[in-house]
Amino acid sequence: MEVDYIIVGSGSAGSVLANRLTESGQHRVVVLEAGGSDLRPYVHLPLGYGKLFYNPNVNWMYRTEPDPGLAGNADHWPRGKVLGGSSSINAMVYIRGNRADYDEWGAAASGWGWDDVLPAYRAMEDNEAGSDAYRGRGGPLFISENRRGLHWLVDDYIAACGEAGLAANRDFNGAEQEGAGTYQMTIKGGRRNSAARAFLRPAMKRKNLQVMTDAQVTRVLFEGKQSVGVEYRRDGQLLQLKAREVILAGGAINSPQLLQLSGIGPGALLQDMGLPVLVDNANVGAHLNDHQGINYTWRMKVATYNGILRPWWGKAFVGLQYLLTRGGPLAKSINHAGGFFRTSPEEPRPNMQLYFQAFSTLIPRNGERPLLSPDPFQGLSIGLSNCRPTSRGTIRIKTPDPMQHPEIVANAYSTQHDVDEMLLAVKFLRKIAAQPSFSRWIAEELRPGPAVHTDEALIADFRRRSGTVYHPSCTCRMGPEGESVLDEKLRVRGVGGLRVCDASAFPNLISGNTNGPAMMMGWRGAEIILRG
Ligand SMILES: Cc1cc2nc3c(=O)[nH]c(=O)nc-3n(C[C@H](O)[C@H](O)[C@H](O)COP(=O)(O)OP(=O)(O)OC[C@H]3O[C@@H](n4cnc5c(N)ncnc54)[C@H](O)[C@@H]3O)c2cc1C
Repeated sequence: MEVDYIIVGSGSAGSVLANRLTESGQHRVVVLEAGGSDLRPYVHLPLGYGKLFYNPNVNWMYRTEPDPGLAGNADHWPRGKVLGGSSSINAMVYIRGNRADYDEWGAAASGWGWDDVLPAYRAMEDNEAGSDAYRGRGGPLFISENRRGLHWLVDDYIAACGEAGLAANRDFNGAEQEGAGTYQMTIKGGRRNSAARAFLRPAMKRKNLQVMTDAQVTRVLFEGKQSVGVEYRRDGQLLQLKAREVILAGGAINSPQLLQLSGIGPGALLQDMGLPVLVDNANVGAHLNDHQGINYTWRMKVATYNGILRPWWGKAFVGLQYLLTRGGPLAKSINHAGGFFRTSPEEPRPNMQLYFQAFSTLIPRNGERPLLSPDPFQGLSIGLSNCRPTSRGTIRIKTPDPMQHPEIVANAYSTQHDVDEMLLAVKFLRKIAAQPSFSRWIAEELRPGPAVHTDEALIADFRRRSGTVYHPSCTCRMGPEGESVLDEKLRVRGVGGLRVCDASAFPNLISGNTNGPAMMMGWRGAEIILRG
């Protein structure tokens, strides 16, 4: 069988691609997805997020190498392995990033500047807040404004940010990104609005789209330097599928892994693995960009969600509330609110992001990251993450076996820049908590606690407790020849008939969460692919 397009992966970008490439009815498209169906209750229940975080049935469960920048810790990196990919297991915050991020994209790859991507965002969105110069209405992706049913402490958090000098902002995706406010969400009718729900499932009704689950692509097939299809594993069998064009949308870890397995990558590495070198390109798997984040946690004098989400009777109550009204805490992301700020006035645009969570989870899992299970006291956390870190990591295969995970070297806080700005950021976070609107509700700071106050101790603390905020990108980046893997049309340099379209293709990491940008990449990528 030969089809027009094979899409490898049904994640944020892959789902959008599948929808748009089949829209005209003229092209036969097959999506091969390594994971299974997304028809699982915890995928659809927004706060089911906590149940997916360590669930190997929907999650690749990656683990990084021990990282000197994280006090030697190896980090848990969840990635979606299910229809919808990471959009089916993520925290549903909808952010596009700062317009200046895309001007940098445009400088690296023409056609990807702010003026190019804004129309794609507006066309794909159905924003509850309505249409304006920035937001779209009527597209396939419903975005909730998230104004109702929030924990009441959100208002006092936003007031405290104002008292600390960070003004309120009603729309981080509008004219200005800076400020404090509530987050827009990819949630519709109290259910997760993943890329599968918004884009893939509607397209699955079309005759020209076939979606195969539990089908893991193991390599791209070539005749000379022309890609002609893929080899994949399903039900224990190795099978082949031919196509006019192959589009990798496996995400920032799997796409570079698959290119390397197919002979496209750092020549010496491929030779070490005994793989034939089709294209020697050191950029494949390099430039790994990711946001690092840390939570500060307080014990509060007033009720947070811990009190209701932990006891059995509270779980029963919110469960019933959800079933009857599609509302309550289960119908929300863990991040009700947040913000963007600059650690110094010299910064041209916000370089830090905030996450307000009206509950806390301090109980560690195997001494590492906390289980997403509420603490037995009234706790509250505010998280921080950097927007444009300068540290870079790598993704490299460890074996020629496609079923083995690649090596992930995060290299977190490996530049002085990243350490300096996080130090300023955690100090600002404490400044917010010290403002009257918020401090009146605090009983005590639990993590890191008041004993941690010197620069040295604060740095040691964030090295010990930081981790990924789940936004790895740029590992097959678009950009100029010699510095990139892809040209501006997402074509893999050095071969024909092969593109990459997912977060790995970002020229650089955007300031904010990456689901929206990955879906936009699928939207705009499809336009480019259809133009030929
Ligand atoms: C826990 C978590 C929380 C997050 N929170 C947010 C948030 O609140 N807001 C936000 O904007 N972003 C968030 N993100 C990030 C965001 O979801 C991702 O950046 C985005 O989904 C990446 O899209 P993608 O298309 O690049 O890859 P993915 O969505 O990860 O899709 C890749 C797909 O390809 C499949 N695949 C991989 N390899 C193969 C193969 N060899 N053969 C077949 N199929 C394959 C995978 O199974 C997967 O389905 C979060 C991510 C995680 C993991």
